[in-house]
Amino acid sequence: MSTGRLTIDLDAVVANWRALDAMTTCKTAAVIKANGYGLGSVTIAKALFKAGVRQFFVAVAEEAAPIRAELGPRPEINVFSGHMKGDTTAIRDLNLTPMLNSVDQLTHHFETLPGHPFGIQLDTGMNRLGLEMQEWAAIAGLALDQNPTLVMSHLACADEPDHPMNPHQLENFRMMTDGIGVPRSLAATGGILLGPDYHFDLTRPGIGLYGAEPFAQGSPVIELEFPVVQIRDVAQGEVVGYGNSWQAERASRIATISGGYADGVIRSLSDRAVFYHDKTPCKLVGRVSMDLITVDVTDLPEDPKALSLICAEQSVDDLARRAGTIGYELLTQLGGRYTRRIYGK
Ligand SMILES: *Cc1c(COP(=O)(O)O)cnc(C)c1O
Repeated sequence: MSTGRLTIDLDAVVANWRALDAMTTCKTAAVIKANGYGLGSVTIAKALFKAGVRQFFVAVAEEAAPIRAELGPRPEINVFSGHMKGDTTAIRDLNLTPMLNSVDQLTHHFETLPGHPFGIQLDTGMNRLGLEMQEWAAIAGLALDQNPTLVMSHLACADEPDHPMNPHQLENFRMMTDGIGVPRSLAATGGILLGPDYHFDLTRPGIGLYGAEPFAQGSPVIELEFPVVQIRDVAQGEVVGYGNSWQAERASRIATISGGYADGVIRSLSDRAVFYHDKTPCKLVGRVSMDLITVDVTDLPEDPKALSLICAEQSVDDLARRAGTIGYELLTQLGGRYTRRIYGK
């Protein structure tokens, strides 16, 4: 076996969903876009469905097809990008609920699929997706007459609890939706942690399910380990890897492991990441290449067979910080080459 091994703990995903659900008195959906944040949307959705989750969100209609095929007609599958031209057949045949985000989309939806379920997305200040306040004021009566299943918006700064943008967006959302008599949703993972004012009728956690910040108290979901392909001695002054970017300051023992940026170990981790052998840290030296990484194992008492990158000693977020990115990006970059070991049901 010469590929890296990605271990995914489905029981931890379910435990995280339950923990997030227990923080509110409203319903809790699950966001499984981008192939379940890189971990496998079908596997994740199956485990969550078994645990009682009945409402899922994907980014685009295409992502819903394998979920509907696996889970059948029961769960509600909502689509953040709404109803794009070309999505009509999928929305109808897969019975998806698009979160309509513009006057154009509302018109298109009512024309092509009259009577088909839909939700509405409002912009409360993030300026990314959704109807703006004036548009909503103009069209709300007409849109609400068609019985949307949900009216939602999204927070821009929910991972910073003290950010003034949070109460600002909350106030806008209330102003736009108080009294409409339709289920409302504002909170993703970060919003759940902001407290009950932000919960409304449904929350939409994604990252928290997968064991990463801002849900720092969640259970870790993945481990990542790479096999050692070769080990060599390098004399003081010798160089390692592309660009000669690392030079040995002492006689060193260098392990070459099978994994690289094609596996999502992004190149900005060059010379920055630390691998672990049990509890002992071993520095990544030189550049990350496509399929290989070199690690200084001089201080280990014995040659390792494998080295860990995400493990008890180093979380997804620890690693993301070293790379100058966030857990979301690291997870969704995980490549297709891993041997995936899936625990739990
Ligand atoms: C991705 C996304 C979510 C989930 O966000 P997390 O921070 O991963 O919990 C919820 N709502 C919308 C609109 C999103 O785009």
